[in-house]
Amino acid sequence: MVPDIFIPFRPEDRQDRPGYFFILSGPSGVGKNTLLSIVLQGMSGVYYMPSATTRSMRAGESQLNPYVFMSTNEFEQMIEHGQFLEWKKIHTNDYYGTHLPSIQFAIEKGFDIITDMDVLGCEDAVVAFSDHICTIFITPPSMDELSQRLHGRDSDVKSIQTRLDRVELEMKHQDQYDFVLVNDDLEESARRLRKIIEEVRSSKEFKGKRQMMR
Ligand code: 5GP
Repeated sequence: MVPDIFIPFRPEDRQDRPGYFFILSGPSGVGKNTLLSIVLQGMSGVYYMPSATTRSMRAGESQLNPYVFMSTNEFEQMIEHGQFLEWKKIHTNDYYGTHLPSIQFAIEKGFDIITDMDVLGCEDAVVAFSDHICTIFITPPSMDELSQRLHGRDSDVKSIQTRLDRVELEMKHQDQYDFVLVNDDLEESARRLRKIIEEVRSSKEFKGKRQMMR
């Protein structure tokens, strides 16, 4: 059963401006989810927005952490009903998508959310919600490091290779992002990410790179 809105927002977190929609991109294995969980622990009022996916759960993952895991049939029904802001088939044949009603609700009602998306999904989101988006690209310190991280969390060689094959596509888009952050030291990167989010949240209107280029 898929919820109407993916996040249980608390009224006290509502801002007196539209909500900001923070998007984190970067190659698979770069540490986006680890960074996010550190940053969100020490910060109130910013909600992690889980994407929906049909990929199977890894060890240590659970429903909503970090995805809403669903069957291909459920996902395709949601596509049919226009429930996704964007969706992509990434890596093998797995669907990943961003739940449109949750994003619309958050922005309209003044709740700040952050999510993880590939570079192509991010392009779609920027077109749809340009005035409310802040985009942040996370890069690995080196390709060797990225490869080691992917090997450390997955034993399936094919799945690792599919993720490595996509790195070039992801890296090519980094100049389009409002901020680029190298994840060389987890604590330091989390500190910098938190600072970016806090600065944007304290502004009534964020003039990101896209707005300046218009
Ligand atoms: P995984 O978690 O399977 O290693 O990586 C999945 C990839 O899908 C990551 O690059 C992540 O950024 C991306 N991703 C996660 N959620 C979404 C989403 O809702 N939409 C799109 N387009 N990409 C997503």
